[in-house]
Amino acid sequence: MIKKRKNSIERIGRQIYPLRVFGLILFSISIVLSQSKLGLGFDAWSIIAIAICLIYPHIGLLWYLKDECRETEIKLMQIDMALVGVLIGVINFNPAIALPYLIANSAANYALRGMKQVVHGLSLVFITTMLVFIFRDQPAVTQADSIELLSPFLYLIIVTHYMGHLSYMRGVSLLRRKIDAEETSKLDFLTGLNNRRSMFDKARLNDKDPKANDHDTTLIMADVDHFKRVNDTHGHNHGDAVLIQVSELIKSSLRGTDVVARWGGEEFLVLLTKTNIEQGVSVAENIRETIANKPFIYDGVEHKVTLTLGIATYGANSNFEETIQRADKALYEGKESGRNRVVTFDPALV
Ligand code: GH3
Ligand code: MG
Ligand code: MG
Repeated sequence: MIKKRKNSIERIGRQIYPLRVFGLILFSISIVLSQSKLGLGFDAWSIIAIAICLIYPHIGLLWYLKDECRETEIKLMQIDMALVGVLIGVINFNPAIALPYLIANSAANYALRGMKQVVHGLSLVFITTMLVFIFRDQPAVTQADSIELLSPFLYLIIVTHYMGHLSYMRGVSLLRRKIDAEETSKLDFLTGLNNRRSMFDKARLNDKDPKANDHDTTLIMADVDHFKRVNDTHGHNHGDAVLIQVSELIKSSLRGTDVVARWGGEEFLVLLTKTNIEQGVSVAENIRETIANKPFIYDGVEHKVTLTLGIATYGANSNFEETIQRADKALYEGKESGRNRVVTFDPALV
């Protein structure tokens, strides 16, 4: 059973409470005016109806707070509709007064749970109005003075605008959540760097940029040396902390226009925009030195971490995906030749 889920949208019962109090006070005024107009005084029906109008919203709120979920509010809105039916009977079925209350409540029903709730609500109105018609035995009235129209139309204006406001706020909050979710889906969970998909997106944008095509783009594929050993010796949490520190150090060595991503487990890919191979080697050397010279300390354990970095560059004649393969080959060459070094792609390696 999907019940009792709470979030800001589900707190609707609290949001509707002031509206319910205000609406039923207005309806009480309508009862007083219509009874006075007919010179009937107050019969038991109207006195009980006014008492219910003044007490019910607070009981409704207490009930809602005891069981704070959408389902409770749906039940309360059904009671509202049954009550509206009774009240319509008590104001002698006067449509000019009854309709604005009915329309406002029906619109609120639609906003909460769609057409099903509207049909359900209107059926309840019909049943309770008929019951009052049968048991109260009063003639219907169709005339209304402008003073009598004030309360129902005020209610109509307030409810429709309040519902509009709630829908608008819901829309804004959903849009915010969507933007947050999109942002989060681009990031690597552990390091907060771009993930592989986000790197692809950014690289494609760079490849399509005509200004970028006038310059070289350099890729650096960096891999932590003997990382399995770090995990095996110090544990997985320690390994994670190494990855976080390496990410931060790589990031701090780059310009704002460069892109860095966690490419795989302990592998990082850097995209240097408008950078030729010599400039790329210098950036890679800087990253390598920064990491090699900064002793890694975690939980009182200190050791060195080194990276091997493979570099490849491309211009208008190639693209990101082809160049990754080359940077990867250069990285492999660096691992083979001893690690903790920067190796440039050499076409002779192909
Ligand atoms: P090499 O110098 O040749 O790169 O050796 P290596 O040990 O770094 O490479 P290998 O591919 O043998 O091992 C990589 C290890 O990285 C194995 C895997 O368990 C670990 N790893 C991958 N992702 C994570 C992670 O998110 N956290 C931690 N702690 N370890 C990870
Ligand atoms: Mg490695
Ligand atoms: Mg690796």
